[in-house]
Amino acid sequence: MTQDTSLVVPPPAGTSPKIGFVSLGCPKALTDSELILTQLSAEGYQTAKTFQGADLVIVNTCGFIDDAVKESLDTIGEALAENGKVIVTGCLGAKTGEGGGNLVRQIHPKVLAVTGPHATHEVMDAVHQHVPKPHDPFVDLVPPAGVKLTPKHYAYLKISEGCNHRCSFCIIPSMRGDLVSRPVGDVLGEAQRLFESGVKELLVISQDTSAYGVDVKYRTGFWDGRPVRTRMLDLVQALAEMAEKHGAWVRLHYVYPYPHVDDVLPLMAGGRVLPYLDVPFQHAHPDVLRRMKRPASGEKNLERILRWREICPEIVIRSTFIAGFPGETEAEFEYLLDFMREAEIDRAGCFAYSPVEGASANELPGAVPDEVRAERQARFMAVAEAVSTAKLQRRVGATMQVLVDSAPALGRKGGVGRTYADAPEIDGSVRLLPPEKASRTLKVGEFTRARIVATEGHDLIGMPV
Ligand code: SF4
Repeated sequence: MTQDTSLVVPPPAGTSPKIGFVSLGCPKALTDSELILTQLSAEGYQTAKTFQGADLVIVNTCGFIDDAVKESLDTIGEALAENGKVIVTGCLGAKTGEGGGNLVRQIHPKVLAVTGPHATHEVMDAVHQHVPKPHDPFVDLVPPAGVKLTPKHYAYLKISEGCNHRCSFCIIPSMRGDLVSRPVGDVLGEAQRLFESGVKELLVISQDTSAYGVDVKYRTGFWDGRPVRTRMLDLVQALAEMAEKHGAWVRLHYVYPYPHVDDVLPLMAGGRVLPYLDVPFQHAHPDVLRRMKRPASGEKNLERILRWREICPEIVIRSTFIAGFPGETEAEFEYLLDFMREAEIDRAGCFAYSPVEGASANELPGAVPDEVRAERQARFMAVAEAVSTAKLQRRVGATMQVLVDSAPALGRKGGVGRTYADAPEIDGSVRLLPPEKASRTLKVGEFTRARIVATEGHDLIGMPV
């Protein structure tokens, strides 16, 4: 971390200092923001709604793709112009600029402090230095689950930080370091507090959920007086039991298709964990996967998916792909399209390959021209949409459980929710029609059953029953 030592001005006596907070980036960055906000709140700081109304501003940045870098740098510039006291944290904070110095400092030399991601302590040290802690912390006012940036009924649970892989298009390991798994007891303790605070859907995130515990050799930890191994299957089993007691869902993200993931499938078939897997395949052709240096590149992914569908026929798979990776031939791309059709990936996103500064893929020969990358992305999305729409169509007539995300006027005019097949923010939703019975209400964060009556693009339309 780099620190600036400008003058510290304590807030006027008797008032709690106000901190402005901007959270940019992915769900992993969001959980970092939640940890910092929880700590600020625990120490008695308040949050400010505007830059001008704050004693200091924290910007949690994203450094993954060029657009995100620009958005982060623009936000820092705005905060400096409107407030002047700015602490920067997050992935962009770990990036080096030209000549090896810190990129954020090179562009915005007036920031007070810069840290990388996952640095609650360093951020708090910088806050204390520039806006001292209020004298009387309002510890009792902090909700037991901490401060959450998500709606009350769903929450992200980060189980590890960093990544042991070195995919050639990715610079995350250089920003976040190697895999560090959180102790299983801490993870389960946080899950328990979240469920007790009313969370109905817990979204497990990391860079590589299947690798949980590899770094600590699957060490045995303790939870609720019993031993639990730091391992994906054991963690998911414990979460499933807890979720069942609270009538809640557990959803797994960033799962790589290693053979041991097969063992999690029976839990899904039993309904304890949602039959939904977010598996970032990125490609299907073994040679492209090798050039990408992807984890599980040697696995037989199609066979694995077909096996998952045998064990748990209702499983929904979401994934992301890259079209036009360096050296991708037309035949390799066609192979990917065939994979999409055969694997019937329910929800797929596709990026046209775009070089990320500092990634080793930039050195690979055979750059695909921009227009070919864009054309392949469009062809991919046409296939993905056809697969996805056909699968959605099969849901018409079914009655499904829906978690209500929005229901103005107690749902008398209808609302919006999601089934097990849709994660918040990234997938589709169910448009709920006004219930037929006037006495029937819908409430945010509660489950309702709905009969699916039609599809609408990527979404479903349902009648609450
Ligand atoms: S698995 Fe690959 S893409 Fe994902 S964070 Fe690790 S290096 Fe990056």
